Amino acid sequence: MNLLADLLANDDALLPARLPGGAQVERVASAVWQITPPTAAAGRALIVSAGIHGDETAPVEVLCGLVSALCSGALVPRVPLLLVFGNLLALRAACRYLDDDLNRLFGNATVPGSREAPRAAALAAAVDAFCTRHAKPLHLDLHSAIRDSRYACFAIAPRNESGPLGAAPRALLAACGIEAVLLTGAQAPTFSARSARRHGCEAYTFELGRVRRLGDGVAGEFAAAERVLRALIAAEPLPEPVAQLHAFRVSRELIKRSDAFRLTLPAGAANFTAFEAGALIAEDGALQWHAEPGELIVFPNPAVKPGLRAGLLVVADAASDV
Ligand SMILES: [Zn+2]
Repeated sequence: MNLLADLLANDDALLPARLPGGAQVERVASAVWQITPPTAAAGRALIVSAGIHGDETAPVEVLCGLVSALCSGALVPRVPLLLVFGNLLALRAACRYLDDDLNRLFGNATVPGSREAPRAAALAAAVDAFCTRHAKPLHLDLHSAIRDSRYACFAIAPRNESGPLGAAPRALLAACGIEAVLLTGAQAPTFSARSARRHGCEAYTFELGRVRRLGDGVAGEFAAAERVLRALIAAEPLPEPVAQLHAFRVSRELIKRSDAFRLTLPAGAANFTAFEAGALIAEDGALQWHAEPGELIVFPNPAVKPGLRAGLLVVADAASDV
């Protein structure tokens, strides 16, 4: 894929200053572009980010496909766009991150010496400038999951409110092929949570299918999300739902305290693995976590640094199901 090779070699010439159809393009940071259509927006402004984790390249290929369609005129933007290729250094190094997980650097903590910290600051500044010009854009942060999942495509929805998810967000997610949505508060140090927290955006982290190596191509599980992205960019009606959406809420976070932390799950256990009520989930020295009725685990990862989240426990939120 030439565009991807160009992005990895030299991102500054990836987009022209003006697209077919007249939209203006501004490069606001390395591999971050703001696109402004010539006429007043027909829909909500949109932030699309991918590659926040440098090893999740299928979403990067999706974003490259959108850039390619915009450059050729096959896709004409009718809403303001901010297109973000996240961890450019890690993408170039073909790894998840160099020093720190970029998607944990959008909180208040400063991480001196981390090569990811200036990138987090640059992306945050780009989003702030975009949100100053266009209030409350929709932010879709595209990832691909590290591990198997009971739901091939799922989303995390950081929100400032706690009620059930409304009909419009549910229709959006179901059209993207999202089978499960995890409703959380907006305090997490993730890119999408920052947009929700700071700017009141409807924002999602999408976990689409499995991590693939660069050039392995974009699999079918991305097709629905890609169709929705094109519809949003062109301000066209959303495609029909292609998934039945199940909603979950976070019940507890598993915070790793020490290097003694261990999960009882086998390595590689799927996201949304369920536990029997009372079953031992994890222990950290004398500390033990036992399952409450109906709890499932998402993002089990005992390898994180102490002090960070080693997994999320979630329960079904039937009020938000489609
Ligand atoms: Zn990711």
